Amino acid sequence: MSKPYSRDYWEAFLSALKPEGRHFINGELSPSSSGETFTRTRPMDGKPGATLARGNAGDIDRAVAAARAAFDSGVWRKKDPLEKKKIMLKWAQAIRDHGDELALLETLDVGKPVMASLNVDVRLCADGIQFYGEMIDKLYDEVAPTPPSERAIVRKVPIGVIGAITPWNYPMIIDAWKLGPAIAAGNSVVLKPAEQSSLSAIRLAQLGFEAGLPAGVLNVVTGYGEETGKPLALHMDVDMIAFTGSTEVGKQIMGYAAQSNVKRVALELGGKSPLVVFADADLDAAASAVAWGCFYNSGETCHASTRLIVERSAQEALIAKIEAVTRSDIALAHPFDPSAQIGALIEEEHMNKVLSMIAAGEKEGARRAFGAERTLAETGGYYVSPGVFIDMTNDMSLARQEIFGPVLAAIPFDTEEEALRIANDTIYGLAGAVFTKDMDRAHRFSESLHAGTVWINTYDMSNFATPFGGFKQSGFGRDRSVHAIDKYCDYKTIWQHFG
Ligand code: NAP
Repeated sequence: MSKPYSRDYWEAFLSALKPEGRHFINGELSPSSSGETFTRTRPMDGKPGATLARGNAGDIDRAVAAARAAFDSGVWRKKDPLEKKKIMLKWAQAIRDHGDELALLETLDVGKPVMASLNVDVRLCADGIQFYGEMIDKLYDEVAPTPPSERAIVRKVPIGVIGAITPWNYPMIIDAWKLGPAIAAGNSVVLKPAEQSSLSAIRLAQLGFEAGLPAGVLNVVTGYGEETGKPLALHMDVDMIAFTGSTEVGKQIMGYAAQSNVKRVALELGGKSPLVVFADADLDAAASAVAWGCFYNSGETCHASTRLIVERSAQEALIAKIEAVTRSDIALAHPFDPSAQIGALIEEEHMNKVLSMIAAGEKEGARRAFGAERTLAETGGYYVSPGVFIDMTNDMSLARQEIFGPVLAAIPFDTEEEALRIANDTIYGLAGAVFTKDMDRAHRFSESLHAGTVWINTYDMSNFATPFGGFKQSGFGRDRSVHAIDKYCDYKTIWQHFG
């Protein structure tokens, strides 16, 4: 029987909820060694949220030691692949079974609509763990061609202790993108979630342990980036950092790896993705793709389609359609409101940053078509309405900087060459799209767009079979798909001579 997911349902659930805010190390909940904590502010209403352990280098040492002990003992990596698969699948099911609770924790932390947390974030998190669980008994090594007196086996072996550092925009999904392949490959993990969004990570680790992951295979240390993420990335006994976050911090992570033990690094970083619309395109489809692509998750999406590069003759009609779709389909409301499609921004400081970037853009001459204003201030929460600026040029700050809010910059063009030049004129290369009915042009364009994912006549379509990640300063290494397993493995050659 389907549940009545009303506002009352979530309010009642919330009043009974006691979120866990301690680290999860070696299969146990643990306060910070300093005893220090910090308290989150709820983005949906500005009220105090959960209290969390404020981790430090000592806590990271404890978690890394637990991860190392689990790895060295072989308790996980040497387990029968069928057994490992069963545990991962049990974990995925436990995530689904605790879906309401996980969705609520996510919404309390990040302010997105709780139904989106449930139907998108929880679902994709469980699907991710399942996808990699199902791969465990299908991973083969290789035998290389050699003369008959020799045999060379090329083994794919786990790397060891992985430090995973994740952001706050899709916490559960991105955690699963890292935990799924890293653990399936046989590694142990120390996860440092963003300080704003640790509740779901702690619960995910508890559920994994209850499903049968041995102690120490998955550890979570909560706290601030400088106090926990940095010591994790500098740690001499961590073999790899899998990072998702800003390009700025990604560069620091590379530095920490170089300063310490040359640990491997995989970086999923920022974006300023172009969506190019030619005048011959289906403008209704394009308008819907632009609006959802840019405004979903309140624009707090790394691959949000924040630059609309539109053929000049179609700009006016397309913007009118984008406004209509935004107003009719993308309801901004309190995250417990069942009609909400988008909710609050992550925190007051971030909302103010978004508003000040908008103000700076207007000073430079950006022309507002609609929206991009603070709203629902009476709730105490941090809401900004989706908005569009038109007749922009690609050198304006709203077209260049990652705003991470619901703000679209529309840049008109006159020729295909100009559209391509503008689309590629960015330090980022995460994603992009082209809308046109001319398939020759669509393929020419998609080949020439420097981005890890290019969509044709759609946006933001994906599944676990497709790799995700960026070119240029959007990082390197790929999450999702079978290829993500390679990231968490080393190749080892075992050469045998038959005497
Ligand atoms: P962020 O500020 O770079 O933080 C990401 C993570 O790094 C957080 O856990 C953060 O901890 C930690 N951190 C901060 N300073 C650190 C340091 N000196 N050493 C080690 N760790 C440190 O990014 P964010 O604001 O959370 O997320 C938004 C960014 O993520 C955007 O740029 C977005 O494009 C990018 N992103 C990319 C992808 C992708 O797949 N390419 C996906 C999602 C998001 P604290 O939170 O405690 O500071």
